[in-house]
Amino acid sequence: MDNASLVSRCASYMKSLCETIPERAVGSEGNRRAAAFIEQELAAAGWEPERQEFQAMDWINGGASLTAEGRSFEVSVSPYSVGFEGTGKLLAISSMEELAAAELRGRILLLHNELAKEQLMPKNFVFYNPDKHQRIIALLEQGSPAALVCATSRNAALAGGVYPFPLIEDGDFDIPSVYMTEEEGQKLLAFEGADVSLKSFSTRVPGTGANIMARKGSPTGKRIVITAHLDAKKGTPGAIDNATGVVVLLLLAQLLKDYDGDHCIEIVALNGEDYYAVPGQMLYVARNQGKFEDMLLNINIDGAGYLEGPSAYSTYQLPQNLLQQVRDVFDGSDSIVEGPQWVQGDHSIFVQFGCPAVALSSLWFTENIDTQTITHTEKDTLGIVDNSRVVEIALALNKLSRTI
Ligand SMILES: [Zn+2]
Repeated sequence: MDNASLVSRCASYMKSLCETIPERAVGSEGNRRAAAFIEQELAAAGWEPERQEFQAMDWINGGASLTAEGRSFEVSVSPYSVGFEGTGKLLAISSMEELAAAELRGRILLLHNELAKEQLMPKNFVFYNPDKHQRIIALLEQGSPAALVCATSRNAALAGGVYPFPLIEDGDFDIPSVYMTEEEGQKLLAFEGADVSLKSFSTRVPGTGANIMARKGSPTGKRIVITAHLDAKKGTPGAIDNATGVVVLLLLAQLLKDYDGDHCIEIVALNGEDYYAVPGQMLYVARNQGKFEDMLLNINIDGAGYLEGPSAYSTYQLPQNLLQQVRDVFDGSDSIVEGPQWVQGDHSIFVQFGCPAVALSSLWFTENIDTQTITHTEKDTLGIVDNSRVVEIALALNKLSRTI
């Protein structure tokens, strides 16, 4: 396939994933449509796709309202929270010490200041979960408050540019919660001890999801696992996070359709990187217990194809010979440069299990990961994508897969 046809195919895939299918949050109908689309395109390219299915809930945000002594405050429902309708005495908590000491039962808590500086990792997120977060969650669950109002500060690094950010985004946590800006929290603080009334119309909807994967080459050969997450955060079209990654997989499947080398090339659209329970990744890890040693390399694509600047690769625990091969391929491409290492992607899972990995992204994304305000928002649309960057990555990975 020539370059022009690859670019036009890329554009058509991007449109299908970001516009025809309006959302890809795990558990949603759109997520299942995206998985079926990937399956269909892999099959069309001559691969035999398999699915790894799991249970995952979707969530409907029906809005929320909070009033204290006749005054209303602006609040948003924490994603995947249970709903709530009731009144309780407001208790403000700003630190771990206060949280441990206070009688929480039946109160509506205003979590602010120190306690609301960074998003709490979901209870069952195993790959990274600081003790401090686990302790806050445990104290809340033991204390059994009626509901939580979280006043969060500006923190692009931990919330992907969203302000205010939900302190809690966890479908496994069953205390109802809403969140608000720091400024709104300051105003609400004046009503400590007063009865406040909270309504949150949030609904959990049971659903399913799946990883989609396919293999070529020698079934007994060392595995080269090429991954991209197919899900997107709720409320975003997820163009560079991460439809571009999925499109690299689909283009690569076509470029490698005749591959019959010594290695086993495994293409995996993982499902859950932007979802509290990372179900697809957990399932993939469970199915590969003890098998990470058989993997030669993971290549993960996330945040690629941004319209300004080059693409960037970074390497993790590569043996010298592999590192040289990777450098030779990417250095031969004008638009792919070596960029900083970063941890917020699925390559980190492979690294944790001792598998060498390469992450591919946009230089813009890796350099501004802590300050950018596009991913995880409605601004992550087709308009910020350069399709030729996506095609260049697929071409380079085709070359790399055949060189190793
Ligand atoms: Zn992502």
